[in-house]
Amino acid sequence: MDTKRPTKLEFAVQMTCESCAVAVRAALESKPGVKTVSVDLGKEEVMVESALTSAEVQALIESTGRRAVLKGIGGSERDLGAAVAMMAGVGAVQGVVRFLQLSEDRCLVDGTIDGLEPGPHGLHVHTLGDLTQDCLSCGEHFNPFGRQHGGPGNSERHVGDLGNVVAGTDGRASFRLEDSQLKVWDVIGRSLVVDGGEDDLGKGGNPLSKQTGNSGARLACGIIARSAGLFQNSKQICACDGVTLWEERDRPIAGKGRSKTGTETPAANL
Ligand code: ZN
Repeated sequence: MDTKRPTKLEFAVQMTCESCAVAVRAALESKPGVKTVSVDLGKEEVMVESALTSAEVQALIESTGRRAVLKGIGGSERDLGAAVAMMAGVGAVQGVVRFLQLSEDRCLVDGTIDGLEPGPHGLHVHTLGDLTQDCLSCGEHFNPFGRQHGGPGNSERHVGDLGNVVAGTDGRASFRLEDSQLKVWDVIGRSLVVDGGEDDLGKGGNPLSKQTGNSGARLACGIIARSAGLFQNSKQICACDGVTLWEERDRPIAGKGRSKTGTETPAANL
């Protein structure tokens, strides 16, 4: 896993004057982890090349008092595919996790999950994109090679084993990782699940360690759906339910209250 390699993030930022653009630029430039910043006032767009997570860059932009919406994420190389999972589940747990295939053996996973108990939580791609019984119908960890459960750094692991994400005291896990086994084209149509407890990465000695990492109940899940890459999403973040970019910013990212009509939008339509 290499979290240092910069990735391009494209944000829509509400900017009305040159001083706004200057303030946004100042909030980003020379910050640790930020490599390049490009601000287009006319298009209200900010492009940031950075090793930070998208949530961290968004917080820097919004520290200027302006709202920002992530429009796209791209690698330094040719993009081979992108996907997104809108996660919803038990209680207040919800999140958005993006996948971007940077090369044949590098898949970037960038996400934010809210409403978690502080501490580590297992994160796995599961075999089935089936939410008919909520997260229980997602099947087991995606395991096309018939291996035992492990950690993302092990060769003996399920392809879907992404290890743990860690929630802070505010209940938010904001993360960015790269994985060598996961491929965007293999996981589209499957599901992503976050668990209630820590994944022991196969080393816990529990009967479940070599099967699931013994990481507890499934808290939230979402179908992994193909998504726009960088520059491909000029107007809306989400074309499915018709909300505009700025409406989107103030809506729950998943779950109840998501759609205009009050009915829930199936994640598969995203
Ligand atoms: Zn596993």
